[in-house]
Formats: sequence, structure tokens, C-alpha cells
Amino acid sequence: MVNMNNSKNSKKNKVTGKKNKATGKNIDYGHSSPAENKIVSPFMSNRFDLWLWDFDDTLIDSNTYYKNKMKPELILGRSNSELDIEFPCWKYFKKLVPLLVSRGIRVGIVSFGTYAIIQAYMDRVFGPSQKYFTKNNILAPCRDDNGRIMDDITNKNNYIRRLMKYYRVGDYQKVILFDDRIENVADATLLDVVAVKIPGKDATSISGIGQYFCLDILKKVESDLKGFCDKHNGGFSSIGSRKSGIRTKNKKNLIEGFKCSCSNNKGVISLMILIFIMIFSLYFLDIFLH
Ligand SMILES: [Mg+2]
Repeated sequence: MVNMNNSKNSKKNKVTGKKNKATGKNIDYGHSSPAENKIVSPFMSNRFDLWLWDFDDTLIDSNTYYKNKMKPELILGRSNSELDIEFPCWKYFKKLVPLLVSRGIRVGIVSFGTYAIIQAYMDRVFGPSQKYFTKNNILAPCRDDNGRIMDDITNKNNYIRRLMKYYRVGDYQKVILFDDRIENVADATLLDVVAVKIPGKDATSISGIGQYFCLDILKKVESDLKGFCDKHNGGFSSIGSRKSGIRTKNKKNLIEGFKCSCSNNKGVISLMILIFIMIFSLYFLDIFLH
């Protein structure tokens, strides 16, 4: 367990530089209420400064595009029960985002989808005058009148960099991305961003029900991060350069990026190497087949 009240973590807060705007004091998320800590733990609050989500099949079920009309004015009129189907974890997301923002944490959506649709869902969830998600932090491709993408986009890393620059977040390891596409996860990992693969839509399951971003995913991520390094009292950090503008794209650094700074657990590291070799094999196989 991470004890947020010990001197080490107090020092960590000073390192992150997060201050309460009203008091000017360093924020200690360990003093959050138990109810708030059930929504997002102090560990995850302290660990990341910028939270990013993909949209289709990470937040919403993309089957919605085939089942319902997606005009923004119609999305704004969705009932709660309709939203339960289209955006399965919207009630949790509605609690999580304001809490993160209240703790000084930045949020954003990086998507290859349609900005107007994403904005409409955010306005539906958080209210029409909400400021949590706007054109400043919803990054999606420009489209022509026929909906064709006009930008030359190869992956989401430019979006991630743009939002890091916008929010002045300089450390890639303080950024977490949730995305259902393994290509996006692999690409973001090249930046040293902590990228989480969301199961997403599962057309092969008997129920046909997918698994989208929700509290259970967050708990799993936290468990993985803690399990990786906490028993060595270390951080889930990178050996390579982590600052904006400096990319570590070779495979060696990619693998090293998932070592704990003080871990000597060769078994865990070997497993991570194996996982990444598998991810890249799938990635290049996908490119080859398309
Ligand atoms: Mg997606």
C-alpha cells in the first residue's frame, strides 16, 4: 500500500509541484474523503498529471453508430437509459472527471472520431455549459463536408504532445492514455506514456457486450503499477529520457521504459519484454495485412 502521509510521499508532492490554487500548499490526496478515494485512489491521482481517453470503443460502444442517429442535437437529447447502453460507464466518468480536475489533474480526449459527436456526448454527460471537455482538449481530425478526414494522421502521438504542451506537462510518464486499439497503445508507449489497452467492443462474445473504460479498469491498472514496483519501494519509471521533445523510439529503450527504477525482478522484466515482442508482432502483422 502507498502511504500518502509519510515523509517520502510528502516530498513526492513537492516534486510534482501540484499546489492548491486557493491555499498555495502542496496537495496531499491522502486527505481526500473515503468516498472520493473510491472514485479514484490517491495513488492514481498522484501518479498521473494528464489523463487521456480515446472515444470510440473506449468510452462509448461504437455499435451506437449503426443503431442510433448521431446528430449532436439528438445526442444531447438521449435519455439516461439510452446513455447506459451507448456510454456504458458514463455515470462513473461523470464522477471521475470533476474529481480529477478538482485535484489539479488535466484531462483530454484524443480520437480519430468526429469532434462534434464527442463534444455532444460530453455536453450530454456533464451538462451543456460544462468546461471539462471543449475544443481545447478534445483532439480529433478535421473533416470535410462529407466526413472525410482532411488531416494526415498516422497515430495519436501528436495529439498527446499537443495536449502536453497545452497543459505544460513535460514528463511523458505522468501521462496515462486509455485506448482500445493496440496500435495506439503501442505508439503511445514509444513516447513513454503509460498506455492502457481497453478491451472495447467484443463482437465475438456470446453476450456481445464489450468492456469499456470504468472503475474496474482503473483498479486493474493501479494493481499492475503497484505490483510492478511497490514491493521494491520504487516507481514505475523510465530509464530513458522522459522529457517532451525527446523521443526514445528504439526497442531497447521501449523495453527499458517498463523497468522499475530500483527493481531487480528479472522474471517480471522478462515477461514485459515477451509481452512487447508479442504486441509489436501483432502491430506489424496488422500493417502487413492491410
Ligand atoms: Mg477507439
